[in-house]
Amino acid sequence: MEKHVPLLQIKNITKVYNIGDNRLDILRGINLTVEEGEFVAIMGPSGSGKSTLMHILGLLDRPTDGVYEIYGENVLKFNDNQTAFLRSKIIGFVFQQYNLLNKMTAADNVALPMVYSGGKNRKEKSEQLLKEVGLSDRTEHKPTQLSGGQQQRVAIARSLVNDPKIIFADEPTGNLSSKQSNEIMQILTDLNKKGISVILVTHEPDIAKWADRLIMIKDGQVLSDTIQKKKERKNTEPLKIKKESSHLSIAEFAENFFSAIRAIISNKTRSILTMLGIIIGVASIISMLALGNGAQKALEQQITSMGTNLLYLMPGRISLGGVSGTVARRIYLKDVEALAENTELIKNIDPNVSGSAQVVYGNKNTYRKCVL
Ligand code: ADP
Repeated sequence: MEKHVPLLQIKNITKVYNIGDNRLDILRGINLTVEEGEFVAIMGPSGSGKSTLMHILGLLDRPTDGVYEIYGENVLKFNDNQTAFLRSKIIGFVFQQYNLLNKMTAADNVALPMVYSGGKNRKEKSEQLLKEVGLSDRTEHKPTQLSGGQQQRVAIARSLVNDPKIIFADEPTGNLSSKQSNEIMQILTDLNKKGISVILVTHEPDIAKWADRLIMIKDGQVLSDTIQKKKERKNTEPLKIKKESSHLSIAEFAENFFSAIRAIISNKTRSILTMLGIIIGVASIISMLALGNGAQKALEQQITSMGTNLLYLMPGRISLGGVSGTVARRIYLKDVEALAENTELIKNIDPNVSGSAQVVYGNKNTYRKCVL
């Protein structure tokens, strides 16, 4: 007989954060098995580690230690790319804040995960899913034109777009009225009936009641694990999990390219401001380089002209044993005039007198050199 393989299994999972010298033990050795088709609620006080656990189970985060198997495959051995690919293929997420893009329509928001996973017929599929969550008349609405409950329904439709095996819902009703909350829980229950496993994180007992199984956690440990409703388990064929990364075909690349163009067009002001920023930045760098080059060239020209045409004539000094001594012969103004008169080779002559002096005042003294 073939060995039974659960959907998810974690063994002795820990999560530790080190902040400065402080060690925070957020998850302290959690063991959990979730079967295909289960509807599990994870409850616990705020800060008990519910979201941390859900992020690890949802492959959004890695534990510090422990084992995590999906359909018997050790997924902690997967690299980031393979993990992202697996996540996009089998997991759907629903968050308290909906996490929808406000500039996109409901249909485009739903279709977005398919851009990353390379799904086909995005438009038809997103419209079909919006119909399933009761929003067929809201496909072209933007999130700001929808109520909180409707936005969460869009988020649920988005979580279904890659046909997940499991949905992770982190406080999905946290921002909703009780009527809207019940509608959302009904949708999740219906999806679970269709065979999708649901793991729900909540701190509200009324919401946790919808699940078949309730796991209580406190201080990063499982406090209790109880079955609330007995359900017959279907024996389904376990999925073969392979280490795969996403590859983009030319058609998918083209579709993604046009999606990006659509995103740029739907965020005109942001796109224009970003482009303006880049243009100003590049233009300033070019101008700075040009100015620098120009100044360098001018300086080089000046030095070159000086090097070939300029001649310094200085009175010599008597040097004795490597030590420069007194001036051997001075140059007087009449020498300058004689030089200027007697040769045609000199274009201009500019006499300079330089000297130095020491000024002493009390116990202070200073030495200055000057040219006239
Ligand atoms: P819950 O969902 O049960 O409210 P969380 O899993 O969000 O709890 O957080 C559990 C604890 O872990 C909290 O005390 C939180 O401050 C801490 N925590 C979460 N993320 C980080 C992080 N990135 N760095 C440090 N501490 C964190």
